[in-house]
Amino acid sequence: MILVTGGTGYIGSHTVVELQNIGKEVLIIDDLSNSSFEVLDRIESITGKRPSFVELNMADRAGLQKVFDDHPQIEGVIHFAAKKAVGESVEHPLMYYRVNLVSLINLLEVMSAKGVNDLVFSSSCSVYGEPDECPVTESTPIKVANSPYGNTKQICEEIIHDTAHVSNLKAVCLRYFNPTGAHESGKIGELPIGVPSNLVPFITQTGIGKREQLTIYGGDYPTSDGTCVRDYIHVVDLANAHLKAIDYLSVKADKGSVETVNVGTGNGISVLEMVNAFKQASGVDLNYTIGPRREGDVITVFADTSKANEVLGWKAQHDLNDMISSAWKWEQTIKEKSL
Ligand code: NAD
Repeated sequence: MILVTGGTGYIGSHTVVELQNIGKEVLIIDDLSNSSFEVLDRIESITGKRPSFVELNMADRAGLQKVFDDHPQIEGVIHFAAKKAVGESVEHPLMYYRVNLVSLINLLEVMSAKGVNDLVFSSSCSVYGEPDECPVTESTPIKVANSPYGNTKQICEEIIHDTAHVSNLKAVCLRYFNPTGAHESGKIGELPIGVPSNLVPFITQTGIGKREQLTIYGGDYPTSDGTCVRDYIHVVDLANAHLKAIDYLSVKADKGSVETVNVGTGNGISVLEMVNAFKQASGVDLNYTIGPRREGDVITVFADTSKANEVLGWKAQHDLNDMISSAWKWEQTIKEKSL
């Protein structure tokens, strides 16, 4: 059985589906602070199987201990549960440090007490900041984080390294680039609360008429068309990277080892390229304008993904059209079902 914390969230729910598709038993822990109970129904309608679920805040150490006591068959953990809004983390740094760090510390303590050694952790390409060169490899230097959120990811990686150094912990820290898209069924996807901070939900919400206009922050950057460049990765590909990581941990990893692995496609896509891909996929002419640059935005970042391929045997399978088409299908589901 694989324990998936944050398993009703965006990336977690897609990972649960992929785990169930290969026959894994899944137990989800989530406090539903940024997702809903209904996601369990939607997962079940895709896979035909309802994952086990415990509603729990990861800050509740005794509650977490009880989950492990009640499920001695847990063999590995994928830890998604965290707060993730960069802007909110600037306004409420202590909340971010408390939730993201305490959740991980509780988890590592309970795993150690129970002899569960395999951990996949959600990290982020934000640890690279504005890199001196692209593509970035896992040994590209880490930059000072530009938000408390980003800093929690850096500190969590360090906590994992320090713990593995003195224990049997085996871990893979996956540094996600820009997760996007949705499940092909149109039944699960990203549900941003309020104004989306990621580009693709903003595009699809504008396309469907929920927002009047997309403002592109900066059109005069030193890139091919003046807009920022990112490495977008389909959420189902990302989900599958977790399956490969769990497999790697149980079969190949040495006790006390930590691997850090980039998860992207290796392709840099500009904001304008994404806007054009949306027009092509949806047939909708997007209302957008180019505004001033936004403080703190990295200009260009995309991944060198050779390590994911060599160590995990993983490679992205979906292209840009798959990402934007599935995100558009999901946006239509949200509208139809008033989610
Ligand atoms: P999400 O908010 O959709 O999912 C996170 C889930 O964790 C939610 O269901 C939420 O209810 C739950 N949760 C939050 N705090 C909790 C707590 N204290 N106890 C129990 N459950 C809690 O986010 P996501 O986009 O699926 O991201 C998953 C992970 O990936 C996060 O760690 C995030 O920081 C990381 N990540 C996300 C992105 C991205 O762009 N989406 C990029 C890089 C890294």
